[in-house]
Amino acid sequence: MKDNIDFDALAAFRQDLHRHPELGFEEHRTAAAVAARLRALGLEVTESIAETGIVGTLRGGQGPSVGLRADMDALAMSETSGRAYASEVPGRMHACGHDGHTAMLLGAAEVLAADPPAGTVHFIFQPAEEGRGGARRMVEDGLFEQFPCDHVFGLHNMPGIPCDRMAVVAGPQLASSDSWRVSFRGIGSHGAKPHQGRDAVTASGQFLAALQTIPGRVVDPLQPAIVSACAVSGGDMNALNVIPAEVQIGGTARAFSPEVRDQLETEIGRLAHGIAASMGVEADYTFIRRIPPVVNDAGATAIALAAAEEVSTGVDTGFPPSTAGDDFAFFSAEAPGAYVWLGNGPARDGALHHNPGYDFNDDALPTGVAFWVAVARKALGA
Ligand SMILES: [Zn+2]
Ligand SMILES: [Zn+2]
Repeated sequence: MKDNIDFDALAAFRQDLHRHPELGFEEHRTAAAVAARLRALGLEVTESIAETGIVGTLRGGQGPSVGLRADMDALAMSETSGRAYASEVPGRMHACGHDGHTAMLLGAAEVLAADPPAGTVHFIFQPAEEGRGGARRMVEDGLFEQFPCDHVFGLHNMPGIPCDRMAVVAGPQLASSDSWRVSFRGIGSHGAKPHQGRDAVTASGQFLAALQTIPGRVVDPLQPAIVSACAVSGGDMNALNVIPAEVQIGGTARAFSPEVRDQLETEIGRLAHGIAASMGVEADYTFIRRIPPVVNDAGATAIALAAAEEVSTGVDTGFPPSTAGDDFAFFSAEAPGAYVWLGNGPARDGALHHNPGYDFNDDALPTGVAFWVAVARKALGA
């Protein structure tokens, strides 16, 4: 087995990606670099899946198949880290460490290509994880028909865990991430004559005050659920004697099970319509399903845990789930899957994911590469 990966060169490649961040479905430079490296290793390379997605396939003869996924996209924000290899693109930044994810999976491809296990490894380089729907597009474009996988694995860096440690946990890992909108439509009136209208502003106030009764009084207290109103719009600060006809409210809903997710969709709408009816206004309600929860399969988790125990100095099996989302859920809906955490070391300058000072830690590269290699071999029964 090849273990002489040049990690300084891999770190330099990672830092080059960091310098040139690209948003979802726009990862043309990144994808070209990934495809070139996969080709140089002798892998089959399929490009332009969901615009900028790539799959590199390593065939080692008869055997099962496994999918390993890395996301490639950056965020629409400006970097303030001041590092030598900081983003050169204003308003674009790798603030979630996907540059590191891409580099680690390429490192694993290099190791495995030198000594292919029996079976098939699909290295899946996904575009647009950050809210633009890259995983869903890849699945809709036939990812798993073209590249069938008996198991699929995902990995994310996690600050606060040492670089040579990991966290692998069965069951719910990441919440569903959905959006909702409510419009209260009343009859606009003079602010001094509310009786001549139907007040959408007061209806929205009642709705906002009652919203937390959904997680607090309706959902099973042993089941996590989050409903947050994140935007409110109506009226005009230059017209403080006018009650507007319409107020719009929007927010997010998060859950760790499909049942609670369904319940939130139903209950937010019920509350909006009920309050509207009681106040004599109309409510329009839409719930936009974006990402299902990531729930680790027991069998896939056991494979990932065995791999993590082999390559790290310690594995946390009680790491708490995150209320963030990851569209890896669309992949693990197609094949038994597990999503694991790789330590990124202490939070430098206190910067966490999506902070303008965040950075992937190159000291995590060896553990990450070794994990991908080990999980692929174990999933293929080697
Ligand atoms: Zn992110
Ligand atoms: Zn991320």
